[in-house]
This record gives sequence, structure tokens and C-alpha cells, in this order.
Amino acid sequence: MTSTILVIAEHADGQIRPVTGEIVACARQLQQLQPADIRIVVLGDPVETLAETLSQKTGLPVDAIRTPHLAEYHGDTYRDVLTDFIKELQPRYICAAHTSQGLDFAPGLAVRIKAACITGVEAIVEADGEICFTRRICGGKLTADIASPNAQIVLSVLPGSFSADSSNATTAGAICYRTAISETSARTIPCGVLRSSVKASGITEADVVVAAGRGIGDRENIALIHRLTALFSGSAVAGSRIVCDQGWLDYAQQVGVTGFSVQPALYIACGISGAVQHVSGMRASGFIVSINSDPNAAIFNVSDICIVEDLKTFIPLFIETATSPHPD
Ligand SMILES: Cc1cc2nc3c(=O)[nH]c(=O)nc-3n(C[C@H](O)[C@H](O)[C@H](O)COP(=O)(O)OP(=O)(O)OC[C@H]3O[C@@H](n4cnc5c(N)ncnc54)[C@H](O)[C@@H]3O)c2cc1C
Repeated sequence: MTSTILVIAEHADGQIRPVTGEIVACARQLQQLQPADIRIVVLGDPVETLAETLSQKTGLPVDAIRTPHLAEYHGDTYRDVLTDFIKELQPRYICAAHTSQGLDFAPGLAVRIKAACITGVEAIVEADGEICFTRRICGGKLTADIASPNAQIVLSVLPGSFSADSSNATTAGAICYRTAISETSARTIPCGVLRSSVKASGITEADVVVAAGRGIGDRENIALIHRLTALFSGSAVAGSRIVCDQGWLDYAQQVGVTGFSVQPALYIACGISGAVQHVSGMRASGFIVSINSDPNAAIFNVSDICIVEDLKTFIPLFIETATSPHPD
């Protein structure tokens, strides 16, 4: 089998999504441990501009598969076309994004091609000569290094885990165009895409983000988070998905895989457990402070300062200390 690492590019609205650069970074790291060619595959209709962007940005060879009627993402079609392509290419590793799209097609693809599937990959390590993929388990409290003896492994790469190279490659990669010809076995019919009207509410630009989690207890305590946020200039209030689902904050303030990714200089997580879906949206922050009453909270694994305390005790005391006049 040719040793190839295949990157499946993610795109939407005619643009390559930034997570594709992170998957490429993951593939390059893997290549350091196991010499292999890296190729990128992109599916769509049209596909030319996407392929050119990928080849210029990464310098890697790109397989551009024009797939009639695939103007919008469709999981059944992705699985069908990729199954045929992978059977021909026989890559050792197949890397997709751990996003709504990637999670929709990648595990089913692994079943079709009889590959192993390791989801939510955050790092790659070598242990006893074996390449292991690190992912979180038990709600993010523990990490597991997973190896597979399978000939092929499908990986879903957690956004925010690998740093994408922002510079363009010096030489563009070769592009191989083809058209998908196999009949698709679509069992679902796409009915169109309903775009979310939610726009980030300043959380993506703020220097300081104070985020509320379910640990705040009830809606009234959002006021406490606002008071803490007001201590910092250039700050914004954000929240975990649960807090937004409860209606305590707007979805425009949600941080995470299905919310917004933020990179403030300071991120203060209040009563947030640290589920992978939340952490992937904030782990790139400059400095992370977390307040949680559970000393084993997973959020502490990505925090620079860990405050084990009831936030309803800590935050008022902190505000009082910060706002009381300093003795001369
Ligand atoms: C497909 C999918 C996508 C998702 N997308 C997102 C996403 O984009 N963003 C996101 O945030 N989540 C997302 N989630 C949900 C995610 O898995 C978690 O359920 C969610 O992040 C948990 O929110 P939380 O940390 O606020 O609540 P919890 O997990 O309930 O944690 C509450 C924390 O508060 C602490 N606590 C309780 N009381 C106090 C107190 N008085 N003082 C201090 N600490 C206290 C507890 O110890 C606990 O750690 C997604 C899930 C799925 C399946």
C-alpha cells in the first residue's frame, strides 16, 4: 500500500474553511512520524477555484473531484464519491474535520472502507514505536492515546488543536481534475440550507472574554458575569452552549464548535466544565483563567490559572477587591 495521508478539504459558500489548514497541519505532523505523501481531496460543483486556493496555499497535490449537483454539502454523496476515490488511492490515513460536516460523513465512510475511525484528535504522539492519536474521554477529564492496527485509519481532527500555516506555499501543488461518475446511493434528499442569521456579538474581536457556563446556576447570575466583564476594557460576555440553549445568553455569544471561535488575550471561564466542543472554540486564547468548584474540572487542563471555588463567592469578592480604593 502506498503510504499516503489524505486530507479531505472542508468548504462552504465557495470558501475553503480555516479548519482545512489545521487538518493539513495535523497531516504534516503525522508525516514527521511516518514518512508519507500528503494529498488533498476536494469535492464540489464547481471545484476549480477551491482546488486552486488549496494548491497555492499549501503547495500540496490536490485531487479536485467535480461532483455534479454537489453545490451544497451532502453526506451520502460525500461517502459515495470518497469511497470510490479511497479504494483507488489506498491512503493509510484519511483526515477530516471534527465539525458538523466531518462528523456527518467520516464515521460512515470508515465503516464503508472497513477502516478504523478515531474522532476528536487533538494531538499525535509516538509511544513504544507506535503512532497514537490523542483524544479526550470522560467529558474531557481524561485523555487517551489511541493506536490502531488497521491498515486504514479515518481521523477527525478537532478544530483549534493544530496551528495552520497562514503563509502561502512558494510553489503551488499539482491539481488533478476528475469528475465523479458513480451513481450515488443517496438515501436523503437535500432540501436546501437554512443559513443562521446569528452573527458573533463582538466576542470574536474582544481582548477579554468572560464566559458563563451552567455553573452560574440561574439566569439572574448573568448580571454577576456582566459586572466582572465591566472591569476590563475591550471585553465581551460569552457563554457555553447550555447557557445559550437555556436562553440566558444569545447564540451570538456561544463559544465552541457550533458557536464561534475566539482568541482573546484573556479568557475567563466561569462555571464551565471544559467539554471538547467548548474548548475547541477558546483554547487558542492568550491566557485562560477558570473558576470552577470541581477541582477535577476538565477546563483546568487548558487553563493558566485554576480557581477552585464557588463562583458566587469568588466573583463578588474579586469585584470588591478590584474596585475598592487602594490605600496610598
Ligand atoms: C455536536 C455537539 C456540539 C456542541 N457544541 C458546543 C459548543 O459549540 N459550545 C459549547 O459550549 N458546548 C457545545 N456542546 C455541548 C458540550 O458538550 C457541553 O455539554 C457544554 O459545553 C457544557 O456546558 P457547561 O460547561 O456550561 O455545563 P456543564 O458541563 O454542566 O458544567 C458546569 C460546570 O460548572 C461547575 N459549577 C457548578 N456550580 C458551580 C459554582 N457554583 N461555582 C463554580 N463552578 C460551578 C461544575 O463543576 C461544572 O464543571 C456541544 C455538544 C455536541 C454534542
